[in-house]
Amino acid sequence: AKKQGRGRWALFDVSMREAAIDALAMQNALKRALANNEFSVVYQPIYSIFTGEVSGVEALVRWRHSVLGRVSPERFIPVAEDIGVMHELGRWVMQTACTELQRWKARFPKLKLHLNVNVSGVELNRSGYVNQIRLILAQTGIEAHDLQVEITESVFLHQPDKIAQILESIRELGVRIALDDFGTGYSALGYIDRYPIDAIKIDQSFVSRMMTFQRSDAIVRSILSLGRALSIDITAEGVENQPQLQRLREMECPFVQGYLLSRPVNAGKIVTLLQLQAT
Ligand code: C2E
Ligand code: CA
Ligand code: CA
Ligand code: CA
Repeated sequence: AKKQGRGRWALFDVSMREAAIDALAMQNALKRALANNEFSVVYQPIYSIFTGEVSGVEALVRWRHSVLGRVSPERFIPVAEDIGVMHELGRWVMQTACTELQRWKARFPKLKLHLNVNVSGVELNRSGYVNQIRLILAQTGIEAHDLQVEITESVFLHQPDKIAQILESIRELGVRIALDDFGTGYSALGYIDRYPIDAIKIDQSFVSRMMTFQRSDAIVRSILSLGRALSIDITAEGVENQPQLQRLREMECPFVQGYLLSRPVNAGKIVTLLQLQAT
């Protein structure tokens, strides 16, 4: 690399420094974001393919900073984990989403709707996490079985036995466990064999390849038959067009989620959707 001359080095230095400044700016901004009310939660509907109705929603966090603008959760969540604020953010998201679900249920008494909340390994691993869920359920009054915690295989990377215990305790509360981004990790089958998994979300990469590649289509089909055999609920994520939806219907994939059906929307739009559905 040294042979490339001074100019390159200088350029490299500048971009490195800019990246470091960006990272530092984001860290500092994130530390104050909760207190400044910069976060919000949006909800993406999950539809039953058989009834065509909304059967649940997935809560997704949004961050809007006055200077940095909108930052994607894919960028800021790892930083929030690094600087030790993820547990506070996660608690706020769950509290906010559960409160919202309780409002929807109060407004539509016959409503059947489950709420999915993404939880990272850092949150699960923190002592008192199970109690925190118990508390939020008690405070908001939502039924445990209406709550689904979405985890990815990465939570099992460190201390899998401890994680298994925590998941078991969460399940004892009546809360369900969903394995997110299914198929993208290393030993997906091992996890559903060994750990208490109630639901699987097929990663959007399979759904997007399904119409072009026979193999992807076959993989989706196999995951669905596995789900049926194990009584695990299956949701296909990232459904973006009609042919994909049609194919998933042929395969009897019970739940679907994606931009074709609805983007993530604010709580008010969910109420409108539920209103339409109720009439
Ligand atoms: P995820 O849990 O796999 O969420 C699905 C992501 O795909 C969301 O992006 C959603 O907006 C997007 N999506 C939904 N339908 C489609 C589609 O049809 N096509 C495409 N291309 N994308 C679609 P988002 O909201 O940017 O979230 C990204 C990731 O950030 C999430 O992936 C999740 O891992 C993480 N995340 C978001 N909110 C939270 C949170 O509250 N807590 C934690 N721990 N993680 C979160
Ligand atoms: Ca998810
Ligand atoms: Ca996912
Ligand atoms: Ca993902």
